[in-house]
Amino acid sequence: MKFKVLGSGGCMSIPRATCSCRVCKEAREKGTPYSRFGCSLFIEDINLLIDTPEDILILGINL
Ligand SMILES: [Zn+2]
Repeated sequence: MKFKVLGSGGCMSIPRATCSCRVCKEAREKGTPYSRFGCSLFIEDINLLIDTPEDILILGINL
């Protein structure tokens, strides 16, 4: 079975919109891997998205 982990953050993506905490500031400055999408998994064999948060739109659905 082939799969891709599309997001490995918490229930919310990092950085959070309008948040100025240290973690979000660092994520904006350094990008990946400090910035993360919410948990999401794509199973390639059957073209199935699992546990996809609303920020999946940012990824562009180019699977
Ligand atoms: Zn924050």
